[in-house]
Amino acid sequence: MTRGRFISVEGLDGAGKSTHLQWLVEHVRQQQLSVVQTREPGGTPLGEQLRTLLLNEAMHLETEALLMFAARNEHIQQVILPALQRGEWVLCDRFTDATYAYQCGGRGLDLAKFSQLEHWVQGRPEGLLEPDLTLIFDVPLEVSKARMANGRVLDRFEREQADFHARVRAAYLQRAKSAPQRIKVIDANRSIEAIQHELATILGPWLQEQA
Ligand code: ADP
Repeated sequence: MTRGRFISVEGLDGAGKSTHLQWLVEHVRQQQLSVVQTREPGGTPLGEQLRTLLLNEAMHLETEALLMFAARNEHIQQVILPALQRGEWVLCDRFTDATYAYQCGGRGLDLAKFSQLEHWVQGRPEGLLEPDLTLIFDVPLEVSKARMANGRVLDRFEREQADFHARVRAAYLQRAKSAPQRIKVIDANRSIEAIQHELATILGPWLQEQA
């Protein structure tokens, strides 16, 4: 059996990740493929408890990064690798690119420490375990803010100031430049239909491979 595919969606809050992830899950399932839909931080019972802490409790920046990777380790071991090995697709709302964007870009975590954690948790003899494809939904800050204003209760990250979110966005775009084969930046400041059309085009070759 072939290994399943691993896709992550990224972007500022309000960029449309949940909306498009839901569509992607249905689109892939329509091809008779088995899909595991999951999220970070979270995705396991322990990871969801860590998520609650991460989104609500004040903590030192490095504690935050350590807990993110602790939750990720559990997620990889319990959910992601077993699903991929069963030949299933894993569609994940945020993964390590988010840690890079929020903890390094937003908060200023030292890149060398980030990289150590990344290699510790995702290192495999054959190389880093990374998504096969990452979709960054990119919107200007004002759009993200306006879409979040729709009655959402804001978490610790969402309550940060505009300059924090500007650094997160810039870090995402920088990360995309450093891995153009894996990461696609989607202009998410368009109609949902136009974005879905682009997603279907991007996914086409991946789905054909499985047919
Ligand atoms: P995220 O998961 O990235 O925080 P959501 O998918 O929850 O974002 O979207 C936030 C809000 O913006 C939702 O009300 C959603 O319906 C709306 N939305 C998402 N994408 C678009 C779009 N392209 N155009 C208009 N509204 C959108």
